[in-house]
Formats: sequence, C-alpha cells, structure tokens
Amino acid sequence: MKIAHGLPENFNPESYDALVVGAGYAGAVCARRLAEACNFRIAIVERRDHIAGNAYDYEDEAGILVHKYGPHIYHTYNDRVHSFLSRFTEWTDYQHKVLANIHGTLMPVPFNHQSLKLAFGEEKGEHLYRKLVATFGQDKKVPILELREKNDPELAEVADYVYENVFLHYTMKQWGKTPDQIDPAVMGRVPVFVGDDDRYFPQAPHQGMPKDGYTKLFEKMLDHDLIDVFLDVDVRDLMELTETSVKVCGKPYGGEVIYTGALDELFGFDRGALPYRTVDMVFETLPEDQFQPVGTVNYTVSENFTRITEFKNMTGQVVPGKTTIMREYSRTYLPGVGETPYYVINEPENIALYRSYVERVSKLVNFHPVGRLAEYRYYDMDGVTASALELSDEIIAHH
Ligand code: FAD
Ligand code: UDP
Repeated sequence: MKIAHGLPENFNPESYDALVVGAGYAGAVCARRLAEACNFRIAIVERRDHIAGNAYDYEDEAGILVHKYGPHIYHTYNDRVHSFLSRFTEWTDYQHKVLANIHGTLMPVPFNHQSLKLAFGEEKGEHLYRKLVATFGQDKKVPILELREKNDPELAEVADYVYENVFLHYTMKQWGKTPDQIDPAVMGRVPVFVGDDDRYFPQAPHQGMPKDGYTKLFEKMLDHDLIDVFLDVDVRDLMELTETSVKVCGKPYGGEVIYTGALDELFGFDRGALPYRTVDMVFETLPEDQFQPVGTVNYTVSENFTRITEFKNMTGQVVPGKTTIMREYSRTYLPGVGETPYYVINEPENIALYRSYVERVSKLVNFHPVGRLAEYRYYDMDGVTASALELSDEIIAHH
C-alpha cells in the first residue's frame, strides 16, 4: 500500500483497474477483495486526511484513543463478515453496556429485568417481569411499539414508562421527531429485553473492539501491493458522470468505479438534497480515572445532548489520572457546506428522491454505489461490510 496526500501530477487513472471513492468500510473492503481476487490495481481517493471513514480513531492530546465520529462498537451475527474482518485484527472481549440516566437513576438499556425493578420497585418490578416472561417468553427481544400494542393494563404501564422515559425525549433530541413519527425499524434497534442480560447487543455472537483500534484494522486491510491511497482528494475534482460514461481526468474511464459518497452531492444536489441528521461531537478530557461506570450513558429525560461516551471504558486503555468523554448533540444536516451527513432519514419521500438519483447512474455498468451514504441506508459496520462483500462478489464473478 502507498498512502499519499493529494494526487501526483502525473496521475494516470488508466494505470488502475478500479477507482474506489472513500476509504471507509465500503471502499476498503471492495479494494482489498478486488486486489486479491482479480489482481486489480486500485486507486482509492478519500477527501478526508485519514483512512477508516467514520470508524476512524486516534490518540488525542491526553494520549487517549478516541473515536472522532462517534462511539463505534463492533458486533455482528454474520459469520462471513466476522471472518473477513478478523483477518485484519484481533478483538477484545468488550461487551457494550449502556445505562440510561432517568432522573438521576442509572438503568440498563435495553430496558431489562433489572431496569424494571429500578423503575417500579423490587416487588412490582418482579411481578411485571413475570408477566412479560409469561407473555413473550424468557430472553426475548420485544420492540417497544409491539409492547404498546398489548391490550393489558399492566403491560401498557410498562410500555408507557419505557416510551416516556427511554424513547420519547431521546428520540426527540436525536431525530427532532417523536418515536411515532420515525421509521419503526430505528427504535426496533433497541428493543425491551425480557431477561437479565444487560449488554446493549444481547445475543450477538461476535462483539468486541479491534485490539489496536479501527484505524489499525484499516491499515492492515489496505496493506496490499496493488492498493494506492490518495488522501485529501475530492473525487468531484476529477470525475464526471455523463448519461453513458464515467469520465475521470477528462477521459471516459473503462475500469470499475466503487463510489461510497453521497449520490446527491455528485450531481450538485440538482434534484434536491437528501436529508440527514448530523451530530456535533464535543470532547472533553477530565483529570480523573473514570467519569461514568460504563462506555455510554444515554440522557433519556434530561439535557440537550443525547449521550456521553467514555472511551477508556470501551477500549480498556489504562491511562491513570485522566479520561476523555464525548457528548453528542444531534441536529439537522446542512448540505453543501462541509458538514458530516451521519444518519439517513428513512422516509418515503427521501427514498423516492434517492431512487431518482440512483436511476441516473443505473445505466453506467462500471459505476457501483455502495455503503451508508451511497445506498442511503442506516447500516452498522457489519451491514456495510456485508454489502461490500456482496458487491465485490459480483464484480469478481464478472471478471
Ligand atoms: P463512511 O465511513 O462514511 O466512508 C465513506 C468515505 O467516503 C468517507 O471517509 C468520506 O470522506 C469519503 N467520501 C465521501 N464523498 C467523497 C468524495 N466526493 N471524494 C472523496 N471521498 C469521499 N456502526 C456499528 O457497527 N457500531 C457502532 O457502534 C456504530 N456507531 C456509530 C455512531 C455514529 C455516531 C455513527 C454516525 C455511525 C455509527 N456506526 C456504527 C455506523 C458506521 O459508522 C458505518 O456503518 C460505517 O462507517 C459506514 O461505512 P461507509 O464506508 O459506508 O461510510
Ligand atoms: N433510542 C432511544 N433511547 C435510548 C436508546 C435509543 O430513544 O436510550 C432510540 C433513538 O430513536 C435512537 C434509536 O433508538 O436513534 C436507535 O438507537 P441506537 O443506540 O441504535 O442508535 P445509534 O447508536 O445508531 O445512534
């Protein structure tokens, strides 16, 4: 692998079999697979000054490994994804735990047996728990919206409590909308858990953190003789799409183009901008060993930030006398001014707009949109990796 900042003056796209736009999961996974399986020479262009996309981590001034674009916790049910990524890292046995700060009491989220007892008192909490077990079964995940539909006054009481104290205010802060106004799948990510497991991802067979961090994982994934990475390069300065071809540096390009940026940007938002939520991440280093008991505390009824992450609690890094925390403030994303589009807003009119952009590239047989931005989807890291593995399977089969 060669990493350069900017493109060399004599950059010749024709000397590469594929151009990959973006050095996050989607781009890096495709680059590695096409280099290995097809012996393709790959040029990756990335407009940031680093690899790893939104999973990028680095040591801050206090020497603490932090995640620049929000806390990233790896978990997957997908064995193929796990064995592919495990080629480039070992994993710690970190199991993510989240507590909700509800009027000063810290309760496990997903809401579970312990949370019920904290919320309703020992006796009533136990009674309600038994009823949940009798209704849904032990160790079952129940989406809050499903719980609300049950026609039982006691279960309705649980549903109302969880809705009001866990979901309503947090969701208003995160999305600017009530839980009923957003895609049910979003809150379905955090179901009530009828059991004692207090992990955020109960039952995910593979979870942990990359032993040396995400950026190191990417360095290994991109470490291949046929892969060149060019940082600080915005592809819009060299690529142009026409109805029938992809032009790179002014000439039709015959290689494969893997595009992991946003599609509306590529067309100058000419049919309108795809809506997103962005997040202001505010970091602070404190002169203490530990600030909070777990990796993430969600502020579900108070404050105007959504959550506080303490990185040492996730990475297991030992740095005595100091710790770095980060607060997240979610807000509307403003297109075209350099903000980071973090969360897609899955609503029918946005999907229709997205499809109208996809239609314009669908005839370009060598242009492949993939990833959280290019597919306009709320993917976790494993979902993006799976999508990139599938796309590379198709390209490999074709060559
Ligand atoms: P990205 O990582 O965004 O990579 C795309 C890259 O393309 C970027 O580096 C961008 O700079 C580059 N690019 C875009 N346009 C251009 C252009 N014109 N020219 C050149 N380069 C360009 N997932 C989990 O599994 N667990 C978590 O705990 C988790 N936490 C998250 C927390 C937050 C706050 C957010 C926002 C996401 C979280 N995710 C998590 C999701 C995870 O970040 C994504 O699934 C993953 O990073 C997506 O990879 P990607 O390659 O599709 O996109
Ligand atoms: N959510 C909530 N309260 C919580 C946790 C989650 O209301 O304590 C809702 C909220 O709408 C959030 C969604 O569930 O956006 C998904 O949560 P998740 O933790 O998966 O979000 P992410 O880590 O992707 O930001």
